[in-house]
Amino acid sequence: MAMEAADKLITGQELTREEFIELLQAASSSTELCTRLAEEARRLRKQYYGDKVYLRGLIEFTNYCKNNCYYCGIRCENRKIRRYRLTKEEILDCCKTGRALGFQTFVLQGGEDPFFTDERLAELIYSIKERHPECAVTLSLGERSYESYRRLREAGADRYLLRHETADPAHYRKLHPDNMSLQNRKQCLLDLKALGYQVGAGFMVGSPGQTEEELAEDLLFLKDLQPQMVGIGPFIPQKDTPFAKERAGSVEKTLLLLSVVRILLPKALIPATTALGTMDADGREKGMRAGANVVMPNLSPQKNREQYALYDHKISTGEEAAECTDLLMRRMEAAGFHLSWERGDAR
Ligand code: SAH
Repeated sequence: MAMEAADKLITGQELTREEFIELLQAASSSTELCTRLAEEARRLRKQYYGDKVYLRGLIEFTNYCKNNCYYCGIRCENRKIRRYRLTKEEILDCCKTGRALGFQTFVLQGGEDPFFTDERLAELIYSIKERHPECAVTLSLGERSYESYRRLREAGADRYLLRHETADPAHYRKLHPDNMSLQNRKQCLLDLKALGYQVGAGFMVGSPGQTEEELAEDLLFLKDLQPQMVGIGPFIPQKDTPFAKERAGSVEKTLLLLSVVRILLPKALIPATTALGTMDADGREKGMRAGANVVMPNLSPQKNREQYALYDHKISTGEEAAECTDLLMRRMEAAGFHLSWERGDAR
């Protein structure tokens, strides 16, 4: 049964929810099946993107957040972290530094911080594009209105990352307080697509309460949405959240899902995430071998990196740091990949 599902996936046929569940269950106890899926994922990655690894400079520009997601270390109820917000000049400095290092994509990520009104953000995006017209600006600022997304797009934003987190409504409820809804999050993704953004969805692997059933929903949702980018990383507990005592997601399962998503959406831009690198010192390389083709080194000011504490022990030095891309390059070369300084838009 599971082998049939794997064959269907590999030959590009649509899988039912039950078939996805079968496949994920079988793969969690069969290294043979995982290897087969990883090989196919690598083949597709190579077919569409060769050995290139695209780079994105990640600027974590605010850790203020009005939301209270149970898994996230920057949730508003966490009084233990020191909050910060970069000034416009600091953000422009990050871009300048990043551009000098060779980056052609800047990802502005932050909590949902009401200080950053449409006007402030539009002004900021406009200034970045004015200084670096050849660069792509990616936003990752959570849920906003259609009108807001429209203004930011008009100001020059090219891409938007908004992980759906889980496509199962009941599971969504276990991860978020009542004032948030999966329906709204999905609507945001549709709005972003309609506005012409290159859109990234995605989810955590091993978040509390997640089973193969929920993951199957995630895969069906991705197939349906057809996002240009997909972010997948293991859940990692953060000590000052309600999920402090929960278990982290596994590296192997994350790699499996990277492979399945590569096969499902062969042309997608898929990062080997910081969370994967945090769980495993070779996480980046393993992610690439499982089908990923993007890395997002940290370009935030050094003084603030520790404060963007989404989860415990989050790495931001060494190959994770934008100023150490030579180290990252050596490691990627050793694994059979090479860093690309192109903008790396979706194909
Ligand atoms: N406010 C933005 C950015 C959120 S942080 C937004 O809503 O999209 C970026 C991603 O980090 C989240 O989408 C989530 O999937 C991930 N994340 C948050 N807490 C995490 C944790 N404890 N472990 C692993 N990943 C986490």
